[in-house]
Amino acid sequence: MNKITNHMPTAELQALDAAHHMHPFTANHELAEKGVRVITRANGVRLTDSEGREILDAMAGLWCVNIGYGRDELAEVAHRQMKELPYYNTFFMSTHVPAIALADKLAELAPGDLNHVFFASGGSEANDTNIRLVRRYWDLMGKPDKKVIISRKNAYHGTSVGSASLGGMQGMHAQGGLPIPDVVHINQPYWYLEGGEMSPEEFGIARARELEAKIDELGEGRVAAFIAEPIQGAGGVIVPPESYWPEVSRICAERDILLIVDEVITGFGRTGNWFGSQTYDLKPDIMTIAKGLSSGYAPIGGSLVSDKVADVIGREEFTHGYTYSGHPVAAAVALENLRIIEEEKIVDHVRDEAAPYLAEKWHQLADHPFVGETKIVGMMASLALTADKSVRKPFEAPAGTVGYMVRERCFANNLIMRHVGDRMVISPPLVMTKSDIDDLFERAVKSLDEGYANVKAAGLLKTAG
Ligand SMILES: *Cc1c(COP(=O)(O)O)cnc(C)c1O
Repeated sequence: MNKITNHMPTAELQALDAAHHMHPFTANHELAEKGVRVITRANGVRLTDSEGREILDAMAGLWCVNIGYGRDELAEVAHRQMKELPYYNTFFMSTHVPAIALADKLAELAPGDLNHVFFASGGSEANDTNIRLVRRYWDLMGKPDKKVIISRKNAYHGTSVGSASLGGMQGMHAQGGLPIPDVVHINQPYWYLEGGEMSPEEFGIARARELEAKIDELGEGRVAAFIAEPIQGAGGVIVPPESYWPEVSRICAERDILLIVDEVITGFGRTGNWFGSQTYDLKPDIMTIAKGLSSGYAPIGGSLVSDKVADVIGREEFTHGYTYSGHPVAAAVALENLRIIEEEKIVDHVRDEAAPYLAEKWHQLADHPFVGETKIVGMMASLALTADKSVRKPFEAPAGTVGYMVRERCFANNLIMRHVGDRMVISPPLVMTKSDIDDLFERAVKSLDEGYANVKAAGLLKTAG
């Protein structure tokens, strides 16, 4: 039996973790010094840690536990599938029922003619698939020069070499020599800090037209695709101005390029529709999915592919695939998750109840002296911390200094709310009730109040010059 259990003293678990476990996006020495938080159980929208504290999870894990924790149905499906067929591949002229059933279900749910799926174990792998898919598509179309993928600064598309290249995170590109060739980045539609004197609507148009300008600069004959998240998640829940997506859609329709919409966060109900593409009326050729596909209960992702693209890719062998493409246990769990979302009308719950109530509360935070703007679509929201509400400017302290101090207070108040730079973000489970949202709001206000006091006391309540 494994000697590491939930019942060891926290300090021992922390010591073992520090000795052997390298954490993602973490300075491990610093973490070892501070002591990692050990999560032991979860139910509904709440986590329990090794000290017995109950924590409200307003991030749904990592943007993924859409149906909440503790759903026995998923555990039972996994158990059954493991006994019946724990693994078989889908490479060598073989398939299995969970992969067939999940592909069929996804084709039914997905908008437009996204009727085909290439499975992966997560979003990063799926976006790597997408790089190969779009380049291969243009090769087969007799246009091998169309290789460049246009993405955006501050986008997040994963952390593998390919997907991190698609992403627009400076800090990630700086480690490991990224991006790979033929990926270029245009500016993001982040009005609050980058909009200057323009109105949000003017700015949305201007940032969309950077796509058009980039296509012209490179030459349409060199551009394979544009990739974007409907709403940037890890970049700080950046909700684009209303004018942005219609203008991008116009450009994509006029130009001979493919549109990849990364719905790893916005998929499966998060924005109040099944997909963010429906919220923004987008017509993707390829859609990236993961996270909410299984509500995080099993690692699975994929690329939803249009009839047009799948038809061309299918002409010859596509030399690509993962050992766990369409893994039967993960596929069975995902299918059960989708059944629950449908049967319990969770997308309706988001659109008609949870999101409007959360929005009402969230926008009240705009009155706080520490809050420069509030943004929310469905069950994903952000706010900009500010030293001075009268101007849209960053703090004098390095980006993230202030955000981190607020995050510390959230931690202390048993609320999982993240900071991205000096924006606070939430992406709670979709099944939150009004009373959960009241609880969230109370803890958020307390954390903001305390964070504000601490920032002031530290002399950091200063706007950059
Ligand atoms: C999380 C995320 C990814 C990466 O997914 P992984 O499963 O972590 O590989 C890709 N795109 C977006 C928009 C994401 O939020």
